Amino acid sequence: MTLKYISTRGGADALGFEDVLLAGLARDGGLYVPETWPVLNAGTIASFATKSFVEIAVDVIHPFTGDEISRDELRRMATEAYATFDTPEVTPLVRIKPGLTILELFHGPTLAFKDVAMQLLARLLDHVLEKRNARATIVGATSGDTGGAAIEAFRSSKRVDVVILFPDGRVSDVQRRMMTTPKEQNVHAVAIGGTFDDCQSLVKAMFNDHAFRDRVELSGVNSINWARIVAQVTYYFWAASRIDAKTPLSFAVPTGNFGDIFAGYVAKRIGLPVDKLIIASNENDILPRAVATGVYAIKDVVATTSPSMDIQISSNFERYLFEASGRDADFVRSAMASLIATGRFDLGPAWPQLQSDFAAVSASEDDVAKSIKRTKAEHGYVLDPHTACAFVAAEREATAGGTIVLSTAHPAKFPDAIEAITGARPALPAHLAYIMTEPERIETLPNMLSVVQDFVLKKCRAATGTSP
Ligand SMILES: *Cc1c(COP(=O)(O)O)cnc(C)c1O
Repeated sequence: MTLKYISTRGGADALGFEDVLLAGLARDGGLYVPETWPVLNAGTIASFATKSFVEIAVDVIHPFTGDEISRDELRRMATEAYATFDTPEVTPLVRIKPGLTILELFHGPTLAFKDVAMQLLARLLDHVLEKRNARATIVGATSGDTGGAAIEAFRSSKRVDVVILFPDGRVSDVQRRMMTTPKEQNVHAVAIGGTFDDCQSLVKAMFNDHAFRDRVELSGVNSINWARIVAQVTYYFWAASRIDAKTPLSFAVPTGNFGDIFAGYVAKRIGLPVDKLIIASNENDILPRAVATGVYAIKDVVATTSPSMDIQISSNFERYLFEASGRDADFVRSAMASLIATGRFDLGPAWPQLQSDFAAVSASEDDVAKSIKRTKAEHGYVLDPHTACAFVAAEREATAGGTIVLSTAHPAKFPDAIEAITGARPALPAHLAYIMTEPERIETLPNMLSVVQDFVLKKCRAATGTSP
């Protein structure tokens, strides 16, 4: 049986996994969600205790691909994807103190958790395009880590061209270099004069321009792409399988676009026993404010030491809103219209559900610095600033069964911030040191849709007709 996906705004055709993978955003501007939630039974979940990360990934992801991708194909792609990680455990756990364990999601090629999903996504996309003898152009916005992960994952793709927009001057040197040093001609890093939200708006506008979208075979790899979310569900099950918990665990998750925390929500929906899902924000606290007040209201973005969370419009929140409103597409549509028109919307009937599904904590820059210092002094462990937000949140929200803190980046990705806080500069792992001296390739463009579209048209093989 093949699972279908529907749009959160109710105005697009239901599609299978492969089409959802290629489409990214739905044509009505909504996000795809499964028509029904598959459920993993307790026996399957219990079997994870002795299974590898890849085997767990296959069991968790296959119900979402349905028959369109066989278990064997999925296993081959997952095996290749996770072989790019520097440890066979893929996402190892580090116990810091009783009741608090860190899940290190940064052992992939770009030292950020985005690799977990992106490495698999690249293989899934190439597989589907090969099958259909087609090409695709990926245009994505990045607040820092998605871009590097996407460029790294697709740099040798014969069928995909990648254009990544990033806010000029607002990503770390290491993050920028991960995007600008690959030499392959199918990947392009573009500095936009604006914020991450501006970059994301440009991408959304390109998706909403249907003629353009068709001409370049536009596809998305931002966390609006369902395949990204589903690939992230694996490590919630993996982490729980490695901890012999008497009562359900809680998870503290550094959140920007609501992708990673939504993957935790999915894990819970499909059967993982979870106590609390803790949303951890930095000073850009739109989500904690929404949980506390029932109003989702945009403020200006402030720059923090955790730039990947310097976001005010959390795209994946729309998926949650759809669920929390009892799958009311009319409600989602009017909430999103109000957000565009007035910068806010009322959660209305979805608010009590939000409060029961999530706890939420906003960590100040001071909290983050103190937490990094103290964790280093007391436990000899250096948190990156994103992980530190979740660490602060985990310590603030007491839980009975213990909390897993998702660590989304290696501290060496943010060396200036860590050095300012601890006095010591974290070194890049030796195998990545070379990127700091490689020549860079950057295009700088204004925050103007037509200019960015022209650039994409000129570069992508799907529109220029150059053979792969
Ligand atoms: C992307 C990112 C986040 C936020 O993840 P979302 O899925 O957008 O919520 C947190 N930390 C780091 C290091 C990231 O790269």
